[in-house]
Amino acid sequence: MTSTTEYKTKGQIIIDNDYQVCSNCIYDETIPAIKFDEQGKCNYCEMIDELKESYNTGTPEGERRFFEIIDKIKTAGKRKKYDVIVGLSGGTDSCYLVAKAIEWGLRPLAVHYDNTWNTAIATENIRKVTSKLNVDLYTHVVDNKESDDIFRSFFEANVPEIDGPTDIALAETLYRAASKYGVKYLFEGHSFMAEGVSPLSSAYVDGKYIKSVHKKFGELKMKTFPNMNFVSFMKWTVFKRIRKIRPLWYIPYNKKGAREYLEKNFDWQYYGGHHLENRMTAFNHSVYFPQKFNIDQRNNSLSAEVRAKLKTKEEALAEYASQPKLEDGLVDYFKKRLGYNDAQYEAIMKGERKTYKDYPTYKRRFERLRPLFFILAKASLVPMSFYIKYTSKSEI
Ligand SMILES: [Zn+2]
Repeated sequence: MTSTTEYKTKGQIIIDNDYQVCSNCIYDETIPAIKFDEQGKCNYCEMIDELKESYNTGTPEGERRFFEIIDKIKTAGKRKKYDVIVGLSGGTDSCYLVAKAIEWGLRPLAVHYDNTWNTAIATENIRKVTSKLNVDLYTHVVDNKESDDIFRSFFEANVPEIDGPTDIALAETLYRAASKYGVKYLFEGHSFMAEGVSPLSSAYVDGKYIKSVHKKFGELKMKTFPNMNFVSFMKWTVFKRIRKIRPLWYIPYNKKGAREYLEKNFDWQYYGGHHLENRMTAFNHSVYFPQKFNIDQRNNSLSAEVRAKLKTKEEALAEYASQPKLEDGLVDYFKKRLGYNDAQYEAIMKGERKTYKDYPTYKRRFERLRPLFFILAKASLVPMSFYIKYTSKSEI
């Protein structure tokens, strides 16, 4: 095996070369809460193997189980205008899912949460896919000043989850659309096979966290931002029983193939990397995470590609060692839009690093309710990855 020594200097906190890399992926000792077994395989690979086994991912049995779910969705959708809500960002996974939903004989409603930082490519992709497939689109647009006030709050709170509010707002928007049209199923485009599972310490988010950070650092009132507090979370899951299905956890999925399919059929355009269809997400992944927190989340998808044998470990490490893709002018756009001069921006970028633990969140409550969330996860009412990460006392 090639030594990884030559790849280690990309701003990583490890300086000497005496550190361990997983024998199966490219996660190394710098990943929070990583552990290695006797064979040198990491606990994240282990978690993915377990998920793969329990969902029969990518196997005929996985597909069979998924088509059973499709039948249930069709039955539940009888006499309704739509059978299923599909979150649509304009990215590969979500566009692919909308197209597949039609192929599977479903009547989807595409739902988009617009945080007002979309790239033009994403907006165009959404239009191309929905118009060609004749799929209705439900969009929630947040007030851009309010949205920016929330982003600013997370930036000034010195926590990694600057884009976390978008995730919560999207989840809440999906539920609201489902409730409005009496739909009982949501599709999410997540694929643990293609993206891996990111460690919690850089990806924690809940409605209370957003509220407390915004209360402390924000200036405007939260009016149009669709936050999800604990009561609404319970309403959607326990009382309305709206199920979240992740089709890519069951069926065979190949991102490259999905992209080619979209390009061919919809004149869809690729935006250059996972999550880069939105400018805030792009700033987060290409600038904020790597420069302030020494987190380079490309290792999630690169590790996934190594696990799936789409890339060798050496190829993945070489790519990981290269600079993240950066749209020209993105940092200036961020500063200008959020109203920071160079000195203010630099001060925060070089400032202290905090985590969700420094602010009030629902995390302890989720831990106390772990048995309830196990039942909800088994019934697909919350994602299994929510149960694994959010209700566990450990840092995974
Ligand atoms: Zn691993």
